[in-house]
Amino acid sequence: MLDRKKSILDIQKNQEWDFLVIGGGASGLGVALDAVSRGYKVLLVEKVDFGKGTSSRSTKLIHGGVRYLQQGNVSLVREALKERAYMLSAANHISKLQPFIIPFYSRLTGFYYFSGLKAYDLLAGSKRIGKTIWLNKKQVIKRIGNINSKGLKGGILYYDGQFDDTRLCIDLIKTIVKHGGTCINYCGVTDLVKDEEGNCTGAILKDEISNKEYKITARSVINATGVFTNDIIHMDDKKQRDLVKPSRGSHIVLEQEFLGGNTAIMIPKTSDGRVLFLIPWNGKVLVGTTDIATDEPAYEPKIEKEEIDFILNNTDEYLKQSPGRIDIKSTFSGLRPLAAPKDKNAKTKEISRGHQVIWTESGLCSLIGGKWTTFRKMGEDVIEDVIQKKKWVKTESQSETIQIDDEALRIDYSKPIKISLIKKIIKEEMVMTLEDLVARRTRLLFLDTEMTKSVLEEWCELLMEHLGKDQGWKNDQVQSVRNLITSGYEPIIRSK
Ligand SMILES: Cc1cc2nc3c(=O)[nH]c(=O)nc-3n(C[C@H](O)[C@H](O)[C@H](O)COP(=O)(O)OP(=O)(O)OC[C@H]3O[C@@H](n4cnc5c(N)ncnc54)[C@H](O)[C@@H]3O)c2cc1C
Repeated sequence: MLDRKKSILDIQKNQEWDFLVIGGGASGLGVALDAVSRGYKVLLVEKVDFGKGTSSRSTKLIHGGVRYLQQGNVSLVREALKERAYMLSAANHISKLQPFIIPFYSRLTGFYYFSGLKAYDLLAGSKRIGKTIWLNKKQVIKRIGNINSKGLKGGILYYDGQFDDTRLCIDLIKTIVKHGGTCINYCGVTDLVKDEEGNCTGAILKDEISNKEYKITARSVINATGVFTNDIIHMDDKKQRDLVKPSRGSHIVLEQEFLGGNTAIMIPKTSDGRVLFLIPWNGKVLVGTTDIATDEPAYEPKIEKEEIDFILNNTDEYLKQSPGRIDIKSTFSGLRPLAAPKDKNAKTKEISRGHQVIWTESGLCSLIGGKWTTFRKMGEDVIEDVIQKKKWVKTESQSETIQIDDEALRIDYSKPIKISLIKKIIKEEMVMTLEDLVARRTRLLFLDTEMTKSVLEEWCELLMEHLGKDQGWKNDQVQSVRNLITSGYEPIIRSK
């Protein structure tokens, strides 16, 4: 059970932490998990809510990255395939094996993808999770009821994993706390603290709920703030070059009938040369993503009309019954924290998707890039680097052996969510706002905006009672989620 008051007390009473991890997304969680697995005293602080950033907005795939293989990035794929197996086993309560089909309309194309995916299987070695096979037209139609069968020659069936990113986020927070770590949401770093020699020795934290500030000391400070990395880097040194360049990826959510089965579709080459997925997720179909370089980080990046058109146009030729804007149940976008290229003109799809550990002169360590699938390995690499750079006594990572907290709340979105479950989440999962509840503890906001609107009043009443707030607070919370729905998630484009 997560207890925010206890976290505040830990912050007040501790003299020195081994690690201060800034950021409660996949990267920060990987670092904190690996650090507690070695017995270090760890504080993880998150400015908004756990998973509020990119880590709630992924395509929910646990994958080696078939398209990186296409680009010849073998070592990146091999590492991710190893971590895919780890995640599917350590978080087996919220992840599953997901079959995919690449449909093909020319046999030659079929052979090309078949050999590529066989190589994908081979690279996984003993960590292979399923066998790539060639399907004929009839077999494809059997698995994907809504496939466009005109001219269809067959499909290549292969396997990756699928998970719920923010449920994993919360279960990881519980796991880290269980292993002695302290984690807190709505508590951000507002400045870094340095000693006389300019070494980074801690940070100033601001509790966004009470507005209180805390100065804390840590032997090592890790910047794991995703697309907000540059903000922390500039707290360290205003003249530092940007380390991260955001790239927006957007999704639309449709009813499951647009897939017609539990097998996902992978479209291997869209009009801009990327891949596009149609994946069954919590009774709906998640379709994405795009890849658009953006300049500014944002907590609520917005899908643009052109992206909706791009997604619909590219799915159109693969589906018998094509979705229109009217069929969109929700939309969401996320920003990839890509390593800023030295060459400013590089296209986002050319930027490496591997992770990097970058040190600045003060001894601040930043973890950038990477993906959810490799979060544990990213964390391990950071801790190894800290030990080496700071000449600490060597310790061994045990993060691979830690079973992720599995008291997980399994939510069936095909039925109305039980109030007893919402009460349990409110009590046990550090829920501070109505948005935490509809967007990240449950996934209603991402799945269906109409369904979300129907629960706002009732859920907020429960949260208000639990937090001891008044009606004014409740009204503000409900209005704030309504605004979020109309300004982003709701397919407002319907009318245009
Ligand atoms: C569209 C899209 C699809 C993707 N799909 C997949 C996929 O299918 N599979 C996969 O493996 N990966 C996927 N990824 C990649 C993966 O989601 C990201 O690599 C990962 O979530 C990034 O996590 P992060 O912790 O670095 O960043 P974030 O999740 O953004 O976390 C950073 C956190 O730092 C916090 N923060 C910022 N400033 C401060 C401060 N001053 N003090 C304290 N906290 C602060 C923020 O609030 C934020 O929560 C996808 C990414 C995108 C964009």
